[in-house]
Amino acid sequence: MATKGSCACGDIEFQFPGEPAATALCHCTDCQKWTGGAFTSNAVVPRASFRVTKGTPKAWDAVGGSGKLNRHFFCGRCGSGLYTELEVMPEQTCVKAGALDGGAAGLGGRVDVEFYTKDRVAYLGPCGEGARQEPAFGS
Ligand SMILES: [Zn+2]
Ligand SMILES: [Zn+2]
Repeated sequence: MATKGSCACGDIEFQFPGEPAATALCHCTDCQKWTGGAFTSNAVVPRASFRVTKGTPKAWDAVGGSGKLNRHFFCGRCGSGLYTELEVMPEQTCVKAGALDGGAAGLGGRVDVEFYTKDRVAYLGPCGEGARQEPAFGS
């Protein structure tokens, strides 16, 4: 069964089959700026099986802490952040879970890892047992 997602205005829709390979929160300042929120929640899925099924997202590139590009895809009309493609993870797409439909935004309650905990806002703690805590990315 496919997991489906969409932007706030409905111009963009996407989907991926099966369960995410991993689930991750990212607390980096780039994710905060991009979303206007405190962190991003991510379903990491194989890039080969991820499909945009409606519309064409816009994209912009940021240079990550690795020095490699981090391409951000978003809706050009409503501005919803939808997914990122990291040069350091060429086989994967990081779907922004808040864009998932039908309750899938909650990732089934599963968070495997939190990245950039050094930038986590002071009013949040670690999100639960079993969520690996990484001060940055790939440390
Ligand atoms: Zn939109
Ligand atoms: Zn981030």
